[in-house]
Amino acid sequence: MSAQTTAISSIYKDMGISEEVYRYGEKMLEKLDARFRRIDETAEYNQLKVVKAMQDNKVSEACLLGTTGYGYNDIGRDTLEAVYASLFHAESALVRPQITCGTHALALALMSNLRPGDELLSVVGKPYDTLEEVIGIRDSKGSLKEYGISYRQVDLLEDGSFDYEGIRQAINERTRLVTIQRSKGYQTRPTLSVERIRQVIAFVKEIKPEIICMVDNCYGEFVERIEPTDVGADMCVGSLIKNPGGGLAPIGGYIVGKKECVENAAYRLTSPGLGKEVGASLSALPSFYQGLFLAPTVTAGALKGAIFAANLYENLGFKVVPDGSESRHDIIQAVEFGTPEGVIAFCEGIQAAAPVDSFVVPEPWDMPGYDSQVIMAAGAFVSGSSIELSADGPIKPPYAVYFQGGLTWQHAKFGILKSLQHCIDKGVIPGIPAHLL
Ligand SMILES: *Cc1c(COP(=O)(O)O)cnc(C)c1O
Repeated sequence: MSAQTTAISSIYKDMGISEEVYRYGEKMLEKLDARFRRIDETAEYNQLKVVKAMQDNKVSEACLLGTTGYGYNDIGRDTLEAVYASLFHAESALVRPQITCGTHALALALMSNLRPGDELLSVVGKPYDTLEEVIGIRDSKGSLKEYGISYRQVDLLEDGSFDYEGIRQAINERTRLVTIQRSKGYQTRPTLSVERIRQVIAFVKEIKPEIICMVDNCYGEFVERIEPTDVGADMCVGSLIKNPGGGLAPIGGYIVGKKECVENAAYRLTSPGLGKEVGASLSALPSFYQGLFLAPTVTAGALKGAIFAANLYENLGFKVVPDGSESRHDIIQAVEFGTPEGVIAFCEGIQAAAPVDSFVVPEPWDMPGYDSQVIMAAGAFVSGSSIELSADGPIKPPYAVYFQGGLTWQHAKFGILKSLQHCIDKGVIPGIPAHLL
């Protein structure tokens, strides 16, 4: 092959990316050098943090073998939980394939640590859509509300800051657990930094020290060098088919934190009396360990993709959250299109960039747990995995699309260029103005 046909631009061309879109991307990347270097440094820090946790807990070859049946004396499972506890500087951890998804992990943490008569308080406004039914904000079978657990929320102020006065007023004798969602979810508010989480936890604890502070850590793991449990969170909860599974975990969720909180969750997951002692790991352990090992660099790639997308779309005049230069505390990038057509075209482009199912065309549908139609693009090795290149958007104003993931930076980059190309081909975006090339 000649040098010309092996040029990077020529393979992009083969993959349907025009010269114009490719050049626009390259131009943007020149400005992102220093930021990408800082992301690599964080990945380096976190890579060593993971290796240290594995070494300190003496992960051995035997830990990679699974158990079946009851799973008594599952050394691989118990060691993995010790690794998570070390990594998060927490007393205990529950990391299981029996936790089916992030929503399940959060529901488990809440239902096991709240009792009838208790009140749950969200200090960051409305929680993630699927939690509305867990809590009973939207009536649902088995919700916390059905069990006599009430709920209150304090919205963030207009400028995105905590409403400290509102929080003070909302805390009462029944308030037992405060939930803090780190990532914005399907909203356009800012994601919280771990430092901001520290401040709100300190404030809550000063008013009532016995309140359990729980952080929904979905999409936040390894974006910074510290995690919410480093700044006072009693519980930190997330999904293994997001950041900490490193793209390899096929299922699972985790809860780390205070021993008592994690034990409560374990007794609820299995049964009173059994707790953490049962729960076979089956064949999940190699992917849990290896995925955790890869998670810091996978997260870094996804983060670069998010920043790249923000800059590409921002310069074309779209509102993006976070904006192109803001500091990052999760891997989600929102782009507001203002029209359903924009959301759909973007998602079609992401789908077309996938290694699996690139030939299918995603459509909006009624998903369980969501109150509007949602379109999701994911051509993933693990079904529904959103640490893999994926995009989704509820079909409702402001018609924002939420983009995340990419197991490698190179793939994230291709996906974003493909989305842009698709938006241009569909007429959602008129083209790249000459001054940007
Ligand atoms: C993804 C997510 C959840 C729910 O996780 P699922 O695995 O989709 O059930 C909860 N909270 C936040 C902030 C999330 O991003």
